[in-house]
Amino acid sequence: MINLMNADANFKWEIIKQEGDAGLLRCFGCSDCAASCPVRYLDDRYNPRKIIRLTLLGMKEEVLSSPFLWLCAHCHACSERCPQGIPVAEVINAIKNYAAKQGYCPEGLKVQLNLLNNSGRLYELEDFDLKKRQRLGLPELSKKISDVSRIFQFTQVFERITK
Ligand code: SF4
Ligand code: SF4
Repeated sequence: MINLMNADANFKWEIIKQEGDAGLLRCFGCSDCAASCPVRYLDDRYNPRKIIRLTLLGMKEEVLSSPFLWLCAHCHACSERCPQGIPVAEVINAIKNYAAKQGYCPEGLKVQLNLLNNSGRLYELEDFDLKKRQRLGLPELSKKISDVSRIFQFTQVFERITK
């Protein structure tokens, strides 16, 4: 149940500022985005229309603390189908970026970021993997891709994620 007494009227403007586009104000709740979404097809608890509607209503805590926010695969099917021309995928992305800055980044994502920063991969290569590749005649791979940690430093990823 939505309690509008907890609504934050500024929330949608904070997201618009984060995204740099006021397109989400055009949403008339038709659900084409939800009907196009492959993630929703797999798990109907995820719903881009609902995320946008709650954002417009100012339900900041509900939106930012929802674990489903992070399920968006950024495939852009919703943006392609929205009759109002709203860049839905970018709106969801802006909400995720805003959530991360506000300290709502999920622990699992932080673990993935640390793995990427440390090794350049989401899966650290062990000697076992390298020997297996050698046996299969596959090219040698470096255990660490240092360019990735340089990108992290340049973009200040960890400084942007609070808590
Ligand atoms: S398709 Fe566009 S207008 Fe329709 S609910 Fe989604 S964002 Fe709103
Ligand atoms: S970009 Fe995200 S919300 Fe849009 S259709 Fe793809 S998974 Fe669903």
